[in-house]
This record gives sequence, structure tokens and C-alpha cells, in this order.
Amino acid sequence: MIEVRELTKRHGATVAVDGLSFQVRPGLVTGFLGPNGAGKSTTMRVLLGLDAPTSGQALVNGRRYATMRHPLREVGALLDANAVHGGRSAYDHLRCLARSNGIGVSRVADVLERVGLAGAARRRAGDLSLGMRQRLGIAAALLGDPGVLMFDEPVNGLDPEGVRWIRHLMRSLAAEGRTVLLSSHLMSEMELTADRLVIIGRGRLVAETTVGDLAARH
Ligand code: ADP
Ligand code: ADP
Repeated sequence: MIEVRELTKRHGATVAVDGLSFQVRPGLVTGFLGPNGAGKSTTMRVLLGLDAPTSGQALVNGRRYATMRHPLREVGALLDANAVHGGRSAYDHLRCLARSNGIGVSRVADVLERVGLAGAARRRAGDLSLGMRQRLGIAAALLGDPGVLMFDEPVNGLDPEGVRWIRHLMRSLAAEGRTVLLSSHLMSEMELTADRLVIIGRGRLVAETTVGDLAARH
């Protein structure tokens, strides 16, 4: 469960998020829809403790990220696949992450398998294609078997097969009862993937709806 309450985040004179409130429930894919610059990444960054809110609250399972003892076991996220780099192998990258988060190392093989990277486990993370780094980032998000997952524009730069794979994964994660928040600036992306939509613009809530209701109104 994700709860954002009256969240405001300013960067100097820029108001990235402006009094935003919404909830994300388990067992569904909730699409976080809005044009570039609407405040989607900022909201996710605050939920993940990477940015401090100016005011308001951003809670996962009723708590702030900073207060979680083993955050990766509660919430996983893919913010930017380009952030996956380095000379370590895909396997070592995940093993280090598991160690520092109190997660059993046996999970590493499980998540590599789930994202289809078992065959690439020994390759250097920095040498993988964008699509493979995307999968490695998702493997890291799944490592702690968290109930809450956030994906920021995960299909950006992927080929059609990669897009289908992401869509199928989102559906499976929700079917397992997890809370899934998926951001995109493309309505077409949401139609096939999301159950519910939280639509924002200029840092503010525009609508909370379902894809079906939105289509019926236009
Ligand atoms: P602050 O929270 O004080 O703005 P940050 O570390 O978040 O500091 O950002 C440092 C600087 O990088 C910002 O002042 C801004 O100029 C620039 N910056 C970073 N990300 C963005 C972005 N998404 N859009 C515009 N400027 C950005
Ligand atoms: P989205 O993810 O919906 O594209 P963002 O959360 O990245 O939107 O950005 C919201 C607004 O806040 C934009 O105007 C962006 O330029 C600005 N912004 C985001 N991060 C920073 C930062 N670190 N410093 C200054 N401005 C920022």
C-alpha cells in the first residue's frame, strides 16, 4: 500500500509536486499518468527516500522509507535503467545488494531466472544492452520479494518484445497481490497494462479513474 498525503516538493522556485494526495492499493496495476515534468519521478523519489518532501507525507505500508530496517524487503523500484552500470557481473551486483539488505543470497538466482537473465549472470552489468539493464534493474527491485513495487517509465527505449514482456510482468506482479505503481506519459501504454489510473499534471492530481471510465468519457 502506498499513501501520498498533501505532498509538496519544491526545488528552489520550481514546484515539482504541489499538494498531491492519492493511494495505491494492492493486487492492481495503478498507472501513474502525466506529461513529462508532471512530477511523477519526484513523487517516486520522495516515496523511496531519495528526495525529502518540502511538506506532506509519502508512506509505504504506513511508514516513511527512512524508518524501514530492510527497505528492499518492503519496496522495490526501477527508476532509471541507465543507472545500472559498473564492472561487476550481473550476479555480483545482485549479491552485494542482497548482502547489504539482509536478503538470502539464494534469491539472486531466483530473480535472475524470473527476469530472463540467468544466461547473462556472469556478464558485466555495464556491458549489457539497455533492455538487459532494464531487466537487471527489475531483478534488483524483486530481490527482497517486496509487496510494493514502483516502475518509472519502464518501457522507455525498449523494443516491442521488451514492452510486451514488461506488460506481462506488471500483470503477474499484481496478480500475486502486490501493489504496483507504473509511471508513463503515454495513455496508450496504460490501456493495456493498468487497472486504475492516477493522473497528474503540474504536480497536482487531475483524476483518479479506471482506463474504462476514461475511455467512456471521451
Ligand atoms: P535541490 O533539491 O537543492 O534542487 P538536487 O540535488 O535535487 O538539489 O539537484 C541539484 C541541481 O540539479 C538542481 O538545483 C537542478 O538545477 C538540477 N536538476 C537535477 N534534476 C533536475 C531535473 N529533473 N530538472 C531540472 N533540473 C534538475
Ligand atoms: P515527471 O517524472 O513527471 O517527468 P519530474 O518529477 O521529473 O516529472 O519533474 C517535475 C518538475 O520538477 C519538472 O519541472 C522538473 O524539471 C522539476 N525538477 C525535478 N527534479 C528537479 C531538481 N532536482 N531540481 C530542479 N527541478 C527539478
